[in-house]
Amino acid sequence: MITANPLPAQPRRWQTLWRQAVRDPRELLSLLGLESLAGRISAAAAAQFPLRVPHGFIARMRPGDPDDPLLRQVLPVIDEERIAPGYDLDAVGDLAARGASGVLHKYDGRALLIATGSCAVHCRYCFRRHFPYGEETAAANGWRQALDYLAADTSLSEVLLSGGDPLSLATRKLAELTDALAGLPHVRRLRIHTRLPIVLPERVDEELLDWLTRLPQQVVVVVHANHPHEIDGSVRQALLALQGSGATLLNQAVLLRGVNDDAGTLAALCERLFETRTLPYYLHQLDRVAGAAHFEVPEAQAIALHEALMRRLPGYLVPRLVRERAGAPYKVPLTAPGSVAISPASV
Ligand SMILES: *Cc1c(COP(=O)(O)O)cnc(C)c1O
Ligand code: SF4
Repeated sequence: MITANPLPAQPRRWQTLWRQAVRDPRELLSLLGLESLAGRISAAAAAQFPLRVPHGFIARMRPGDPDDPLLRQVLPVIDEERIAPGYDLDAVGDLAARGASGVLHKYDGRALLIATGSCAVHCRYCFRRHFPYGEETAAANGWRQALDYLAADTSLSEVLLSGGDPLSLATRKLAELTDALAGLPHVRRLRIHTRLPIVLPERVDEELLDWLTRLPQQVVVVVHANHPHEIDGSVRQALLALQGSGATLLNQAVLLRGVNDDAGTLAALCERLFETRTLPYYLHQLDRVAGAAHFEVPEAQAIALHEALMRRLPGYLVPRLVRERAGAPYKVPLTAPGSVAISPASV
C-alpha cells in the first residue's frame, strides 16, 4: 500500500545534479583546459540564452579540443551575434499554432503540450530559445486550460509532452498530468520528447520508471542525441531502463555544421543508438532561428548526407531527413527529385 508522505519531498539525486550544472562559460572552458577560447564567448548571447550544461555531459567532451562536437552545442559564441536574413525569433510558426495556453496543435491527431520551459542543457541551436515560456507553459495554470482543450477535441489520439524538457518536472507533477490524461479515452498514446536521458541520465530513476510502467497509454519516448559521443555507458543504461518500462524509444537529431555534418558521424550515431535499442526517427534540418545561422548545413549537402546514410545503413537505421515549415501539415521530407543515381553496373 502507498501512503501519502506528509513531509516535504527530499530533493532527488538528479535534481541535485541539475542544480550543479555549469552556467559560467569561463568555468566550462577552464574545466576543459580551453581558457584560450575565452575570446570566442559572447556575453550578449549568454545573456539572451544562458549557458547551462550538467557536469556529466561535460565529462563526455574531449579536454583541450576547441572543436569538440558536444562543446559546440552548448557554448555561447560570438557567431550567434551575426544577423542572418531569414533567421527569426519564431522560426517554426509556434506563436500562430497555439491551441490553448501551453498547447501547440499543428498536425491532425496529435497535439503538443508545452509542459515546462526548463531544460537541463541549453542547446544553442534550439528553435525555442526565444519562445515566451513564462506565459506559455501548460503547467502554469495547473494544466486546466490545456486539459480542457485536449478533452474537447476527440480527434486527438496522441499527446506529446514537450517544452522545454518535460522530464525536468518532478515525477509527482508528471503523474498529476497523466492521471488527468487517463480520463480522456480518445488519447491512446503519450509521447515524451526529452533530452534528459542523454544529458542527465540520472533522471531515469526508480520513481520515473515506476511512473512510466504504470501509465495506461502506449508510451513513446523520443530522445535527442546529435553525436555518438553523447551516448556513454550511463546513457545506454538509462535508455535500456526506459525500454524496460515498456516504452518505444526513438531519437531525433538536428543536422549541425561542425557537430554531425559528415556521413561517418551520422552512421556511427545511428548504430550507437541501436545498441541501446533506440531507433533513429528524424534528422532535422536546422530551424532558422536567430543566432543559429552558423549551424546551418546547406540543403543540398543535407540531402547528400542522407543519401550516403541510405547507402551504408539498413533502412531501419536511417532517420527521415525533414524540415519544419510554418503552416505545413507535417514535417516535410527533404529529397532531391530524381536524385537516385544508379550506376550501370548495378542495373
Ligand atoms: C513535431 C511536432 C509534432 C510531431 O510530429 P510527428 O511527425 O508526429 O513526429 C506534433 N506537434 C507539433 C506542434 C510539432 O512541432
Ligand atoms: S533540450 Fe531540447 S528544448 Fe531544451 S534547449 Fe536543448 S533542444 Fe531546446
